Amino acid sequence: MDFDLPEDLIAAREKIREFAKREITQDLAFKYDKDEKYPFEIREKAFKEGIINYQNPWQMLIAIEELCRQDPGMGIAATVSLFGVEVIMLFGSDRQKEKYLPLVNSGKAIMGLAVTEPGGGSDVAGLKTTATKKGDRYIINGSKMFITNGQIADFVVMLTRTSTPDSKRHHGLSTFIVETNREGFKANKLEGKLGVRATNTAELILTNVEVPAENMVGEEGKGFYYIMTFFNISRIYVAAQALGIAQGTLDRVIEHVHRMKDSGEYVDENIQFAIAEVATRIEASRMLTYKAASYLFQFKPDPKITSMAKAYAAETAVFAAEKALEITGVSGLNSDLERFFRDAKIMEIWEGTSEIEKLIITRMITKQDGEGN
Ligand SMILES: Cc1cc2nc3c(=O)[nH]c(=O)nc-3n(C[C@H](O)[C@H](O)[C@H](O)COP(=O)(O)OP(=O)(O)OC[C@H]3O[C@@H](n4cnc5c(N)ncnc54)[C@H](O)[C@@H]3O)c2cc1C
Repeated sequence: MDFDLPEDLIAAREKIREFAKREITQDLAFKYDKDEKYPFEIREKAFKEGIINYQNPWQMLIAIEELCRQDPGMGIAATVSLFGVEVIMLFGSDRQKEKYLPLVNSGKAIMGLAVTEPGGGSDVAGLKTTATKKGDRYIINGSKMFITNGQIADFVVMLTRTSTPDSKRHHGLSTFIVETNREGFKANKLEGKLGVRATNTAELILTNVEVPAENMVGEEGKGFYYIMTFFNISRIYVAAQALGIAQGTLDRVIEHVHRMKDSGEYVDENIQFAIAEVATRIEASRMLTYKAASYLFQFKPDPKITSMAKAYAAETAVFAAEKALEITGVSGLNSDLERFFRDAKIMEIWEGTSEIEKLIITRMITKQDGEGN
C-alpha cells in the first residue's frame, strides 16, 4: 500500500499548479464572479496546455482539485465542459461515441447533463419531462432547472419519461442526446447565484423538441440506472472540487497567520486548534476521495466510499471556509475568502445533497434498495 502519488502525477500536479497560479489570478477570479461570466479563455488555454486531459482520469481529478484551490468558480467552469460525457462513453452507441466524444474531448464542443426539474432534484424518479415516440422520432416536452452549461452547451444528455411508471417509479425513464439548436429548445441563464458564478447555469424549456430515435442513449426505460451510474463517477469529481476549495481556504489562512506572526501578533490556541482541525479534515477527505477514485479507475467503483468521499469533502469545504472567515475576520471578508465561502455551499447540494449521500451510505451498509439522486 502506497499513499503517495506516482512521480508522473506529482509532475503533472506541479504543471497544473503553475498553470493555475499563472492564469487564474485573483483579479480575474473577482471579475468573472462579479460579471457572472463563463471563462471561455481559461478553458481553451487549459485544453491547449494539456491541463484538461480526459484520457487520464487521475490527472483530471488533480486538475479539478488544483484549479478549484486557486478559484472554485473558474476552476469548475474550466473543467466541467464535458459534464455528462460518461453516460455516452458507457452506454452510447458506436455512432454516438464517434459523433460526440471527439468534439467534447478536444474542447470543440461543450455539453451538459439535464436531470433536475423545477419540481426537485433529489427525487429523480419524480421527473415530469416526457419523450413521446412518433415514427422514428421522439417529441420532448417539459423543463429542466439549474442545468450547468445549459446556455452555452452544444448538446445535453437529458433524462426523460418515456412511459408511465409501473409499480417502480424509476422504471420508464430514458436518456437522450438533445442538441441545443433544435427548434423548441430554449435556455434561460440563471443569474444571482450564491456562488460558482463563473459557471453557466440555466433553466431549459422544451416545447415539442423533436429528436431522432437514434439520439436515445442505451435502451429505452434504463435511463435511471445510467444516471445513477454516472453520479457514482461524477461525485468523485465533486469531492475533488470540494477538496480544492478546502485546501484553498487553508492556504489563505496560513498566509494570514504568517502575516500575524510577522507583525508580532499572538496566534492564539483557538486559531491553532481550528487550523489543525481543518487540515486533518482535508487530509481525511483527500484519502477518501483518492480511495473512491482508485476503485473507480480500476473499474470496481464502490458507491458507499464514493458517497462518503463526496459528503465528507463537501462538508469539509463548508467547514474550512467558515473557519477561515472566523480566523481572518474583517480582512478575510474583504478578500477572495468571501468568494470561497459562497462557492463552498454548492458542494453539499449538487450531484446529491449531503442528506442523499448519507441515505446511500446507510442503504449500502444495511443493503436496502431505493431510489434517489
Ligand atoms: C449551481 C447549480 C448547478 C446545478 N447543475 C445541475 C446540472 O448540471 N444538472 C442537473 O440535473 N442538476 C443540476 N443542479 C441541481 C442539483 O443537482 C439539485 O439542486 C440537487 O440535486 C438537489 O435538488 P433540489 O435543489 O431540487 O433540492 P430537493 O431535492 O428539493 O431537496 C431539498 C432538501 O430536502 C432534502 N431531501 C430531499 N429528499 C430527501 C430525502 N429523501 N431524505 C432526506 N432529505 C431529503 C435535500 O437534502 C435538501 O436539503 C444544479 C444546482 C445548482 C444550484
